[in-house]
Amino acid sequence: MEWNKAGIPHKGWSCVDVEDIAEYFDDAEEIEYEQCEMCGRERIRFVHIMRHPDYPDELRVGCVCAEKMSDDYVNPRRAEDTLKKRAVRRKNFNRKEWSYNPAKNTYSKKYKGEYITIMQGRYGNWGVFFAGKRIWDYDGSKIRSMEEAERIAFEVFEQYHTTQEERELQFWLEQRRF
Ligand SMILES: [Zn+2]
Repeated sequence: MEWNKAGIPHKGWSCVDVEDIAEYFDDAEEIEYEQCEMCGRERIRFVHIMRHPDYPDELRVGCVCAEKMSDDYVNPRRAEDTLKKRAVRRKNFNRKEWSYNPAKNTYSKKYKGEYITIMQGRYGNWGVFFAGKRIWDYDGSKIRSMEEAERIAFEVFEQYHTTQEERELQFWLEQRRF
């Protein structure tokens, strides 16, 4: 166990980021979980990235170790919860299938009362249409595939539609099913 290994400080770490390594996996069986680099035991999907002023490398650890290493029992958990809620929203969004309209060559879905459409443009790139906006560029680059358009559709939906309350409610409803 790394917690006993010499040379790795136990305290004084700060959590600089949290990643959901399965963000783009819809099928839970495909997820390759990481092992916590501090304890070697936790099987982690939400990776807390830790830095220490006296240690050269970042460590990728689970929430329990992140809490101990930073002596912060609020923020690592909160950051992980935020990502978990987002993962649930993404799953629900993706569960609703796109329906193809051959006349217009578009794929649409109605989600939470809103229509979202994706389509391929004349030059092979993709666009996302939502709430009166036609998005052909996202984060400064063209949308190159249908998969990318689907991912961006979710991002756009997140930005323009859901409120914080809805997101939290959605999360708790989902939790009760398990
Ligand atoms: Zn650990």
